[in-house]
Amino acid sequence: MKYLTDEMISGLAPAETSAFPSPVPTQIVSSDEFAPVPQSPRQKEVEARLTDMSDRIAARLGTSRRRFFQTAAGMAASFVAINQVFGNIFDVSEAEAATPDMANERAGKLSKQMVIDGHTHFLRDDTRLMGFVAGREAVGKFGWNKSLAEKEQTIDDLKYGNYIKEVYMDSDTKVALLSNSPSDVPGDWFIPQEQVFKTRETVNAKAGSKRMLAHFTFTPGQPGWMEKVDEAIERFKPDSWKGYTVGDNTHKDTAAFPWHADDEKLMYPFYEKIAKTGIRNVCIHKGLFAPGVEAKFPRLRPYADVSDIGRAAKAFPHLNFLVYHSGYRWVGGNPADGMAEFDKTGRSSWVSDLAEIPEKYGVNNVYGDLGQLFAWTSVAEPRLSAALMGILVKGLGANRIVWGTDAVWTGAPQWQIEGLRRLEIPVDMQKKHGFKPLGPADGSVKTAIFSGNSARLYGLTKQHAELVGQDRFAEMKTEYELNGSGRSNLRYGYVSKAG
Ligand SMILES: [Zn+2]
Repeated sequence: MKYLTDEMISGLAPAETSAFPSPVPTQIVSSDEFAPVPQSPRQKEVEARLTDMSDRIAARLGTSRRRFFQTAAGMAASFVAINQVFGNIFDVSEAEAATPDMANERAGKLSKQMVIDGHTHFLRDDTRLMGFVAGREAVGKFGWNKSLAEKEQTIDDLKYGNYIKEVYMDSDTKVALLSNSPSDVPGDWFIPQEQVFKTRETVNAKAGSKRMLAHFTFTPGQPGWMEKVDEAIERFKPDSWKGYTVGDNTHKDTAAFPWHADDEKLMYPFYEKIAKTGIRNVCIHKGLFAPGVEAKFPRLRPYADVSDIGRAAKAFPHLNFLVYHSGYRWVGGNPADGMAEFDKTGRSSWVSDLAEIPEKYGVNNVYGDLGQLFAWTSVAEPRLSAALMGILVKGLGANRIVWGTDAVWTGAPQWQIEGLRRLEIPVDMQKKHGFKPLGPADGSVKTAIFSGNSARLYGLTKQHAELVGQDRFAEMKTEYELNGSGRSNLRYGYVSKAG
């Protein structure tokens, strides 16, 4: 599975590929050999309780369990089951799960919420990164997801058409930033840079408002990389910059150009250049380097943590450093290891290190992105999800955390959006660690995370938000939702309309 990146591996698990077709996944898949992290006893219990509850409610409503799972009440039921097993972590009631009108009313109100997803992906049409397909087939074969075994899996689920559907139609995401991942092998970039910007242009033209932002991916040390930055400034006008300090995350075995963000000789000329352009957001992939990954690629380990961010941020106070995945280390391993670390030490690698940067370096230009961090913990170890949010809010401040889901690796991001809307830090944890409550779905902390901070960083105004609320994508989504259970049949119609 040479072509399988950790990011992809981590993307194999949730929403779509879950063995149990619930709105929120009840188990998680991991490791590059596709060996599952066994469903923990508690996750098994979540599944059993959810099945029981859903069968009861579906029968009373005269519908099927599968259909019930596609509704807002079904989504609520998933969080009820998680609460029953893990304690009250998500704000949800059994009444909401049992009363479709109540669930729909809540979902309808929140659906207008501005959600800016700063971290999304799809793959180029001619991608060679077929590990995803093999992964999905394995998921089917192992019986984790019976529907994947019934139907031949294709790479199309990771491509543009499905991306448009899952991000803009199947979720409340209003604006998505299209990211990328570079490689030393030109054909193995997720998407060619040209295509990233063509896609941004197409999507925004079709929507009739600014629905897509885009990264230009810089590749320090690769021959000609600074000339490409010049070209980007001139030609593409990216919304922000993205770089991978491990160099080639797809081919870690041969990655020839890892770098440190505080390398004065290599990086400072780049920072000086972009500081002059007004494109001042530098996004840096960090973390996702569980001990199993480290054992295989020890050479890249020093580049994977966040120890180089503080110095760079201090030297360039007019740039913003957005640390992707917030440096969260444990993706690619067993989520229980991440929970055990926090329970034992009160810290989480390398999220705590990131959260300490403002105080340690006296800076306020360092941000944490929630890509994968939230997907990986909210289902498997929801208390860890709460802890990570507590650590980040306490250290960086609520106004330095940006929403990102790494969709579509983990399917439509709606289950993650609902997760954060409902997540609260348990009172015992608040007391023990000095964490403040996160508050309601539309309260100040979550509003800042979902959209306020990114709007500020990317200069998106209130006027822009109003436009987004009534553009062609908004019309499409209204129509799409009216068609309810016909969704999957409509898929290709919408795809061709969008693409
Ligand atoms: Zn990503």
